[in-house]
Amino acid sequence: MTQTTFTSQQMLARLVGFDTISTKSNLELIHWVRDYLDGYGIASTLIHDDTKNKANLHAVIGPEDKPGVVLSGHTDVVPVEGQAWDSDPFSLREHDGLLYARGTCDMKGFIAVALAKLPDIVARHKAGKLAAPVHFAFSYDEELGCLGAHSLADTIASLPVKPQLCVVGEPTLMKPITGHKGICDYDCTVHGKEAHSSLAPYAVNAVEAAAELIAHVKSIARRMQSEGPFNKAFDPPFTTLHTGLMHGGTALNIVPNRCDFSFEIRNIPEVDPEALAEEIRQYAFKTLEPRMKDIDPKTGFEFRAAAKVQAFDIANDHPMVDLVLQLSGANEAAKVSFATEAGIFQNKGVPTVVCGPGSIAQAHKPNEFIAQEQLLKCEHFLDRLFGGLKAAA
Ligand SMILES: [Zn+2]
Repeated sequence: MTQTTFTSQQMLARLVGFDTISTKSNLELIHWVRDYLDGYGIASTLIHDDTKNKANLHAVIGPEDKPGVVLSGHTDVVPVEGQAWDSDPFSLREHDGLLYARGTCDMKGFIAVALAKLPDIVARHKAGKLAAPVHFAFSYDEELGCLGAHSLADTIASLPVKPQLCVVGEPTLMKPITGHKGICDYDCTVHGKEAHSSLAPYAVNAVEAAAELIAHVKSIARRMQSEGPFNKAFDPPFTTLHTGLMHGGTALNIVPNRCDFSFEIRNIPEVDPEALAEEIRQYAFKTLEPRMKDIDPKTGFEFRAAAKVQAFDIANDHPMVDLVLQLSGANEAAKVSFATEAGIFQNKGVPTVVCGPGSIAQAHKPNEFIAQEQLLKCEHFLDRLFGGLKAAA
């Protein structure tokens, strides 16, 4: 067992070197982290997906009989294809205090700082100065709709002693974030019946049927905007719905037999997106389909649930929010529009705050970067966190 030490920047250079674009396996990175932890005698639990090509990693340092603090991050990154990078996206480049590579801000920066702190956490523990355990919780497939975090949060929430706090280190410039909207995406295929367009009344036009349902989605969007529910912490302060993709038809003189479209619901925490989705489905099945099936029973709507991220909301006056506010030095907590894994942990009963280095403005872009100053801020935050931990919340 070799104990290796890294600065945060060295650790980040190591982590961005693993190409963990969400479509690929993250196991090389996960195994490397497991071996690094093993060097310090820390055991890791790997939670694989069904393909066994991806895994979450969970590890605990310190007294497991006390409610700990979870440091949570996703190991996958978004693709680089079609983006104009000035340097190799998988090799860390430093220029003028900025560190460039895919995943630097979203969000290997936070994971790097946490991992680089390992020797310090272990030393604190050995000296009896770690009042509560530190959990590392690193997930896969966040960028595909927070797929990995569910089994990871299940594992953590079912521990004999539940953690007192989870910090999700998505890039917030080290400002505490206490809420975001949820996302519920659906793909819909309309099966129609083909015919020469001169015989349109004897056919089922899949594009027109899709258009009628899309108009209904729009009417719900208008209702949400005019009637609420409203939550002023968000911009816009209500649940939004929109159809972003539609494909159908091959020629103007053919009644199209198929149309595909995708719509999304971005819900404030007060709104159940499943209920809205059910309202849309019922309109399709009860109002639109009967007329279609009168002509051909094989026609109709088919819905497939796509990405889903739970909304996240923790009270701004929660003691754990207070703690993170103090430690981060920020003035106030805020809600944001981008989605994270926080709602998954929060809904499992682990008080959760999003707070991490770097800016979301750099995420998912070519020449993604994080400022060295942000890594430093995160180091200080974790130092104060480990030093300020109480045995219980
Ligand atoms: Zn992210």
